[in-house]
Amino acid sequence: MTKYFVYFLFILSAAFLTTGCSKDTDNDGEEVVPFFEVTCPQLDNIAWEGTVFTLSVESNAEWSVVSNAGWCKVTDNVSGNANAEVTIEISDNLSGEIREAAIQFTWGAEGEKNEIKVVQAPQPFEEGGLYKIPVVFQMLYGNRNIETQYVKEGHLQTVLDGVNELYRQSGQNLNIKFVMATETPIGEHMEEPGVNRVEWTASTIDCIEFMESDEQRYLDIIWDPSKYINVVLYNFSNPQILGISQFPFVMAPDALPGIEALYNSAFPTQENLDRPQCVSINNRYIYDTAPLAVPGNPEGSLTNVVSTLAHELGHYLGLRHAFSESYSGVCVDSDFCDDTPTYNRQNYERLVQAYGTSYKEHIDELITREPCNSGESFISTNIMDYSITYSNEFTPQQAERIRYILEHGVFIPGPKNYPEISASRVSGKMKLPFEIME
Ligand SMILES: [Zn+2]
Repeated sequence: MTKYFVYFLFILSAAFLTTGCSKDTDNDGEEVVPFFEVTCPQLDNIAWEGTVFTLSVESNAEWSVVSNAGWCKVTDNVSGNANAEVTIEISDNLSGEIREAAIQFTWGAEGEKNEIKVVQAPQPFEEGGLYKIPVVFQMLYGNRNIETQYVKEGHLQTVLDGVNELYRQSGQNLNIKFVMATETPIGEHMEEPGVNRVEWTASTIDCIEFMESDEQRYLDIIWDPSKYINVVLYNFSNPQILGISQFPFVMAPDALPGIEALYNSAFPTQENLDRPQCVSINNRYIYDTAPLAVPGNPEGSLTNVVSTLAHELGHYLGLRHAFSESYSGVCVDSDFCDDTPTYNRQNYERLVQAYGTSYKEHIDELITREPCNSGESFISTNIMDYSITYSNEFTPQQAERIRYILEHGVFIPGPKNYPEISASRVSGKMKLPFEIME
């Protein structure tokens, strides 16, 4: 039985060899007719999630293949002169819209073309589905040898992983995940995902001036904020500030208490920006991933970068501080979330100042907060609080606000259901609702 099988295989391959030869050398000495054929799966309606597929080439001619988009990459067999399997890698479509690419084969002496159209759907924003948000770290550096400026490869992924873990374990199903961007705004594949290294001359920048500025050199740093969350890294000339964020706004008639609405007939786009729409993070703490200073760990960190970024992204997605933001001395609930207990921030800061460097001895007291309404004191756990805090929770109402901003916030990546006016556009800078938060 075995022998018979082997023999049969031999006969078959011999037959193939003969067929192959007869195509290459014609008995009459006439020129060989070049042929080219490519077979592929259905590619004009592929799902949003990244995938790999192969195209089968059958040819007796020289051929090559290129793609015109970074998200649709030829990873294997970019050229050949015979049959081959060409591997194409498609990345997740986080662009918020349908996108198209063309895979083009060129073959034969005449340079004939075969083109395959690839169409990919955007990721849906369905109930319970995990929504991925592309992040790009805009790393401003003056000296490649200083590791806080020219951050080690891979480290920012670790930081973002930490933020995702914090959000995932926040007690709420936010169903979002921050991911490193894989493509540049012009569709090029990013060799170092999520990181854009930008050479910069100033060694320090005032972060408040930066965030409020309409200077073109600052605006030019920002990649289209409708497609990416930009996190700009630099050395703050305000060393006590760890991070700072723009606050979102919506287009009227969309409305959410505590969020400004823009009443305008034109829908703003990147070229209308009048400030860098981003989060800024102070790079001097970029390697601080030590556990926070809390009861049981008084020697812990006060400047943990994962907590800072998680907090700033909370602002970016529409969350105010859990504490009273009124500085008139009246203690109020100012974050538009009834389920985050509020407290008098001024009193708390006075306490922190009074303890000064001996705060470690008072950490059990400093983790607690005295509520405005003279109710029971509570332990600080909210990510939108700071100083001595566990900083590891969101509340249901905070989760709802984040969801609303993802769906309606201008310059926030995410599939949008904007009002009718969204079709109209203007050029140049616009006066946009503006608020920054540390
Ligand atoms: Zn804040």
